[in-house]
Amino acid sequence: MIKFLDLQKINLAYQQEIETKLLEVFRSGWYLMGNELNNFEENLSKYIGAKHAIGVANGLDALRLILRAYIELGIMKQGDEIIVPSNTYIASILAISDNNLVPILVEPEINTYNINISKIEEKITPKTKAILIVHLQGRVVFSNQLKEIAKKHNLKIIEDNAQAIGAEWDGIKSGNLGDAAGFSFYPGKNLGALGDAGAVTTNDDELAKAIRALANYGSNKKYVNIYKGLNSRLDEIQAAVLDVKLKYIDNENTIRREIAKKFISEITNPSIILPENPTNEKEHVWHVFVIRSEKRDELQAYLTENGIQTIIHYPIPPHHQEAYKEWNTLSFPISEKIHEEVLSLPISPVMTEDEISKIISVVNKF
Ligand SMILES: *Cc1c(COP(=O)(O)O)cnc(C)c1O
Repeated sequence: MIKFLDLQKINLAYQQEIETKLLEVFRSGWYLMGNELNNFEENLSKYIGAKHAIGVANGLDALRLILRAYIELGIMKQGDEIIVPSNTYIASILAISDNNLVPILVEPEINTYNINISKIEEKITPKTKAILIVHLQGRVVFSNQLKEIAKKHNLKIIEDNAQAIGAEWDGIKSGNLGDAAGFSFYPGKNLGALGDAGAVTTNDDELAKAIRALANYGSNKKYVNIYKGLNSRLDEIQAAVLDVKLKYIDNENTIRREIAKKFISEITNPSIILPENPTNEKEHVWHVFVIRSEKRDELQAYLTENGIQTIIHYPIPPHHQEAYKEWNTLSFPISEKIHEEVLSLPISPVMTEDEISKIISVVNKF
């Protein structure tokens, strides 16, 4: 059985280094807001190129905290609108509605699965305050046109960088393209912790200060509370593990790119639509390798029978979720088509040549 993602193997690659760190943290007696977090934040901010990196409890919180901080700073208020792709993972949208802001869904481009930048401007109203871009599947979505739209309408650009750590656009890392970015280090992400973890990066001093306080009960000074905050911290154990793994992320992303290239050149089944490799291959870190087929469910069953585990990212579009009943009658045909046809093949830095070849030959035989 070829697993969709062999997390055990991924982490065992750094077994000695991680176990040494875990033991060190365990024996230190210091488990929150210590040296491990400081080191990881410093190394993450250097890696991304952003002035601030703030460790938080998970990726959803990273996005919630960015929006909440803009509200506390008076830049946004309840009822304001945030533009977001209609085919994103639900967390991008939950972060908006959790803050009593209004998600405005914009359809993606079918060939990149990312928000269609040319469809953004028609959705802008006087209430629009930000564009939440999502670098879905590990592919950067950014352009000078997007920057101009944001500038013209005075909108913040917030990046959901949960799936794309290490990707670059025009020499700039994702997470440093907009005004603020949310990261997830959920175990299955390209940089995965041993549990929940996340971060925010930004070059905005005021925003960083507000987020740090909000994530710590609304306090920058012990027992003095300036906001009605929450508790969303990255603990020392997760920070230590992430700091070890951050050193290897470029290498791992390079391996993902090589596997993706091989899939793209060697999968030749005409009933399958392959993902596009961007002209600048640094724009993609292949968090997932998503193919499309009109016979998606049959294809998935066939792969399962042949010992290949696959996942659908994602089976139900946000506007069809019960949680967003108010959208259930809306129509987003491109998103719907994507959700009906996509299938993610296994891709990871620890796959063997044999596994890669087997996936290619079974997909071609379908
Ligand atoms: C994983 C993910 C999140 C949420 O991150 P968690 O750490 O699971 O809270 C948000 N957005 C996208 C696009 C994701 O893939």
